[in-house]
Amino acid sequence: MLPKCCNLSKRTVRPVSTPNLDPDPYAEALGGMAFGRNVSAAPIRIGMLGTWAKKVRRPTVDVRINYGEVIDTHFFSNPKKGMRRLLPRLLWRKLMGRHVRGNALTIGLLKGCLDKGVEIWTEASARKLCQDDGRVTGIEVDHDGEVKTIAAGSVILASGGFEWNPEMMAEHFPGPVEWTASPSTNTGDGQRMAADAGAQLDRMDQALIMGTTPVTYEGRIQGQPAADYFLPHTMIVNRHGKRFVNEKQMNIGLAFSERDPETGTPRHLPAWRIYDGQYAAKYPHALPKASVPGNHFRADTLAELARQIDVDADGLVETAKRFSEFARTGTDEDFGRGGSIWDRNRAADPTHKPSPTLGTIDKPPFYAMPFKASFLGTKGGARTNERGQCLRADGTAIPGLYAAGNVMANSFGSRGVGAGTTLGPCLTWGYIAGMDAAAT
Ligand SMILES: Cc1cc2nc3c(=O)[nH]c(=O)nc-3n(C[C@H](O)[C@H](O)[C@H](O)COP(=O)(O)OP(=O)(O)OC[C@H]3O[C@@H](n4cnc5c(N)ncnc54)[C@H](O)[C@@H]3O)c2cc1C
Repeated sequence: MLPKCCNLSKRTVRPVSTPNLDPDPYAEALGGMAFGRNVSAAPIRIGMLGTWAKKVRRPTVDVRINYGEVIDTHFFSNPKKGMRRLLPRLLWRKLMGRHVRGNALTIGLLKGCLDKGVEIWTEASARKLCQDDGRVTGIEVDHDGEVKTIAAGSVILASGGFEWNPEMMAEHFPGPVEWTASPSTNTGDGQRMAADAGAQLDRMDQALIMGTTPVTYEGRIQGQPAADYFLPHTMIVNRHGKRFVNEKQMNIGLAFSERDPETGTPRHLPAWRIYDGQYAAKYPHALPKASVPGNHFRADTLAELARQIDVDADGLVETAKRFSEFARTGTDEDFGRGGSIWDRNRAADPTHKPSPTLGTIDKPPFYAMPFKASFLGTKGGARTNERGQCLRADGTAIPGLYAAGNVMANSFGSRGVGAGTTLGPCLTWGYIAGMDAAAT
């Protein structure tokens, strides 16, 4: 028999997540699914947080469309149509203060903590772990300018990646890094504190890297995950004007983190997104904005565009010609773009034939925008065991020290297997570490 609190018939049950039509990136693999595995956070009312509502960071772009709706309406290819279809519910959400996506997750988690009486400090930067005979016994925190020491049976590090730490980035990801997308407070403090306490760091060269579009947020340029390069009439080339990757695949970041074995520098950077006049006519919303310096180049010929961006002109002209032939047949013979369920469904243009993601690049004017190695989160940090405890190099656990999320050596590494490849493990390890710390 169900306990009283689980008597569903007497309670209004609200979904916390809803399934959407996003396919698995490897839907054809054994166990892969063409749709139905992915879930989106259901819209959630920020007002439920009371005075804490003001402290939730706003999203980079405040559009109240959840991930599933973006996918299910093919929003990237035709936002006007998507908006028309979703407008009533979006207005309702705005009116009711309902938030979606990352904000919905944050609001739900924060509400859970507040309900359980968790004391939360903002403007509090953890600086140093306290140790006694090897055991972690607390943490030193700079709270509103005052240094405080908090004694604790255990400490769980959850301070994210080190994307905003220039020295650590130069060491582990040599080469140009710009348009970072995560909170600028992710400066690798947790990795440093864990190492100081004797933890071994691992997977420091792994990260979630994506194509982003620059947006101004909190007074600086940040990356906003983009889908412009999935649509027809666009491709990505290197300095030789050559393609080097299936632009539509989920793990495009792996190509951008590939290094030259001799020099250690990125093999394919600088890279460029190239668009043509057909793209500009069909997807004007996705064209690079001229307002960001160094982001928007335009020319009447591909050769002239190549000269502007310092790319080999013959290489670019030849690549566009070959790419256009693939677009006409619908088969990318070089990189297989459009060949998988993921490529054909997610963020492509279903009205474009024969392929929803391949379109000729042959109509002027031509445009270019840099494709930066833009980090959503690094994935290296303290090695942990199955309980989330941080490990020393000899494999022994550091008593009282746990790590969860991007501050730990990630179990997947850079390769994603779905839209929740980072958040899923972050939440799971947070749960495992929390349960273990509470029990010991
Ligand atoms: C734009 C964007 C879109 C994304 N989309 C997806 C997606 O669709 N699916 C997915 O799975 N993943 C996605 N990710 C990645 C995912 O959001 C992150 O991997 C995840 O949030 C990491 O969680 P975390 O708790 O480890 O760190 P974070 O969420 O980064 O939180 C770390 C927190 O620690 C704080 N902190 C840092 N140092 C200190 C210190 N010394 N003292 C106190 N606090 C400190 C930071 O201020 C920050 O608030 C996305 C990321 C971005 C940026």
